[in-house]
Amino acid sequence: MHKIENYIGGEMVTPASGEYFDNIEPATGEAYSLIPDSDGRDVNLATDAAKLAFPAWSATPPEERFAILMRLVSLIERDLEPLALAESKDNGKPVSLARSVDIPRAAANFRFYATAAMHLANESHETFGIGGVHAINYTLRQPVGVAGCISPWNLPLYLFTWKIAPAIAAGCTVVAKPSEVTPMTAHLLSKLCIEAGLPPGVLNIVHGTGPKVGSAIVAHKDIKAISFTGGTATGEEIARVAAPMFKKLSLELGGKNPNIIFADCNYDEMLATTVRSSFSNQGEICLCGSRIFVERPHYDQFKRDFVERVSSLKVGDPNDPATDVGAIVSKQHFEKILSYVDLAKTEGGRILTGGSIASVSSSVPSVVPTATTENTDADTEIIVRKLNGYFIEPTVIEGLAHDCRTNQEEIFGPVVTIMPFDTEEEVIAHANSVRYGLAATLWTENLSRAHRISSKLESGIVWVNCWMLRDLRTPFGGVKDSGIGREGGFEALKFFTEEKNVCVRM
Ligand code: NAD
Repeated sequence: MHKIENYIGGEMVTPASGEYFDNIEPATGEAYSLIPDSDGRDVNLATDAAKLAFPAWSATPPEERFAILMRLVSLIERDLEPLALAESKDNGKPVSLARSVDIPRAAANFRFYATAAMHLANESHETFGIGGVHAINYTLRQPVGVAGCISPWNLPLYLFTWKIAPAIAAGCTVVAKPSEVTPMTAHLLSKLCIEAGLPPGVLNIVHGTGPKVGSAIVAHKDIKAISFTGGTATGEEIARVAAPMFKKLSLELGGKNPNIIFADCNYDEMLATTVRSSFSNQGEICLCGSRIFVERPHYDQFKRDFVERVSSLKVGDPNDPATDVGAIVSKQHFEKILSYVDLAKTEGGRILTGGSIASVSSSVPSVVPTATTENTDADTEIIVRKLNGYFIEPTVIEGLAHDCRTNQEEIFGPVVTIMPFDTEEEVIAHANSVRYGLAATLWTENLSRAHRISSKLESGIVWVNCWMLRDLRTPFGGVKDSGIGREGGFEALKFFTEEKNVCVRM
């Protein structure tokens, strides 16, 4: 079975323990590669490599960093197909989604930050003090040093590079950990970094579990900033360790996003987008709307049309271009989602469609990359697969109270609830009633109402008459238990730097 390796000091290395654990393909439920079971020793090695690389990398002109990162962009684009196939196999997502969203976005992340670093400017302030004192203050913005980047499984390469790209572009060196549930494309990226000529030690990737590798990164005294995306409980644990060490922290955490639909919306547009915003990537996107509030005059029509559309979604082989909903990422997560469907029933919910395990058979032969990009033709094989993995029917539930657990806790799967509402005040209160505040979606043609409600929603992001329309310059992040800090734009570059004010008396 193919072995994934750590990427430390510019080389592919085996973990200190010499141990590996299985990487499971969600569509089949079977192991198909091996993941290094790394630990603190590997994190120490990676941090040493990053420290060694830091003086030269931080002094490398942004134009040179730009050139190297743009070579990486070209290589990701060259390998779009094997990377998309690998992402789909590793995560269970439809390959069409990996091809159109995940991998292009990974390239876009590097492109965006390669250029952004050349546009980051520092402030200066001319000062006139008492007694005719005249001075000029200027701000130096210096890379923090070694940064730790830890990412989740739902958008593996997309979110991994969303952290690494600004860190490296800002002049930091990095110790990064992808999710142990979906490590393959991070592994492929390490090979591309070598091919692109990224200097050894600038990026180090340590594979393994959160408790062994993630926590060692967070606790390492020489890692000065932690950029984390994942669950709220993990974010709490990270903050507990990192805050007393005065590390810079960016935490992008869970969500339970409201989707608010007024009767005056563009109905067809709303319906098509709401199907997407509910079930894209099996509902495993932190921005998916999982609580759908519909203004009462539209409720029955919406319920009928939505259920009809959702029940016609094709749950299938991730490798089939016609598949809308692929496999849930892991057995553990599959069981968690099903337990929430059971919980919803005990809380009085009515399942309008879905609610069960979906049976899926392989409809197309699979082309499976075996984790190398040097010669993609030689490293692919055609096999026919039995799909005994983790498939759940897209599920719509009604009749639940706003404060029940199903409506309050993050499920992060293909499960949504629908509820009618009568007034703006009522729906704002219900939308804000959860501990999370990541994203909200609002459908109305009434411009004043759109502005009014947007300003009142407790949410880091509000989409009005759209969803997932991303502009990489915009601040991205959540409020309340959805996290602290913002990614995107210059915010992320600034996160990976420290400001120093220099005051020069004239
Ligand atoms: P998770 O918190 O279980 O794991 C995320 C990463 O943290 C993994 O790499 C994991 O190995 C690591 N980790 C686990 N324990 C750790 C510890 N003690 N110290 C350091 N690292 C540790 O999350 P997940 O299940 O991989 O991802 C799903 C969650 O991510 C959901 O809650 C989802 O909402 C959230 N998410 C948020 C955003 C966002 O932008 N806000 C985006 C995507 C996913």
